[in-house]
Amino acid sequence: MEFSTLVISSNVLETFFSTSIKTINNRAKPYIIDPLTYIYGLESIDLSPKRWYSKLVSHYGLDLILSPGVTTITVGHLLMAGQATNSLRNLVENVTNYQKRRILDSSEFDDFTDIEGFQGHDVSPDLFVPRFLIPPYFYMGYDVEDISDIGQSQWLRVNIECAKHAVARKETSEKICAVILISKSLLFFPEQIEKLVNEYSTTEVDAFMLWVPDFREYREPEQLLGGFVKLVSTLSKLGKPVFNFYGGMFSLLLSKRGIAGVCHSPCYGESKDPFAERGMLATVRYYDQDMKIKVPYGKLVEFLKLTNRDYCDCQYCASLRGVVGDTTDARGKRIELAAKHFLMQRSSEILSINADDAQAIVSSFKQTLELCEQNDPNGTYGDYYKHLKVWNSVLSKALT
Ligand SMILES: [Zn+2]
Repeated sequence: MEFSTLVISSNVLETFFSTSIKTINNRAKPYIIDPLTYIYGLESIDLSPKRWYSKLVSHYGLDLILSPGVTTITVGHLLMAGQATNSLRNLVENVTNYQKRRILDSSEFDDFTDIEGFQGHDVSPDLFVPRFLIPPYFYMGYDVEDISDIGQSQWLRVNIECAKHAVARKETSEKICAVILISKSLLFFPEQIEKLVNEYSTTEVDAFMLWVPDFREYREPEQLLGGFVKLVSTLSKLGKPVFNFYGGMFSLLLSKRGIAGVCHSPCYGESKDPFAERGMLATVRYYDQDMKIKVPYGKLVEFLKLTNRDYCDCQYCASLRGVVGDTTDARGKRIELAAKHFLMQRSSEILSINADDAQAIVSSFKQTLELCEQNDPNGTYGDYYKHLKVWNSVLSKALT
């Protein structure tokens, strides 16, 4: 189990190019570039006015596939009678080359290397080789196709062909990770999960990255969480690492069932919805290490009472309480310290999961839940702890 891979989306890379180079260099951790190809297959969102959008169109060679004025790629461009077209193969090559070379071939990278070298720091180009290459991937499921069976999904065909072509042309040192982006309603149907995994078993990729948009571990009903467990455990039987693109505590506790790691973006997202607008208002949300959920920082005192706790004694929380006022600076500082508190708590949680203590964490949910129910007889704060009941039920089954 790891918590180590940085995900840089291609739109972030194109928009904050030099900053991204610095971030990768400073963190000195593996990273991957999410090529965001699904965006070009979704008619419902038009991001074409964004500057990065047209930059990626040309990097990916989409301008050669799409007619002028057309911004959406269709199955017809990529498949002919169920077989991969030249356009599909070109797309795979351009998208993987982008991940391999975009930074290393840039003048910004040369400048960065020069400046660092001048200050006596060597920049290792190896650090800029992505840990995995991600073939083009597109969204599949009932939200975007009128299908009754995932086997009929044309986008699934496209995704499988993209993964296969990426594997066919990879170099020995390279690893291919297929992103499986599905609508969450698919998780209701166990036989559909089996079929989906069966299709991916033919690709010979090196790893899988799950992405179930808008899958909120805290909010989903037991049946959907159970479906997610099934997807993870079925997929992991293929013997390849399974990562969750955007996951939280619930995913981490599935390490025994096959989750090999959870990625995180530079800001700390635990779920992501491609249909939702980007750029939420930044407010301070504070990670409650007993309820395993982020709560509004302003109400922290009330939340502590729920579980009979004192303030967290970590180094960041002491500073956090010292930052007062409502200036942009103060808010920014609080957000930063709350994030550090979270990351520290999360890494110690990961350590204890690695030490095979997942079962103990799951048992602690029950105690926390009982405390909360005692201290909150009217259920005013129920929304912040009721997931513990559902998690306890799903995970007790999954971990035995
Ligand atoms: Zn703390």
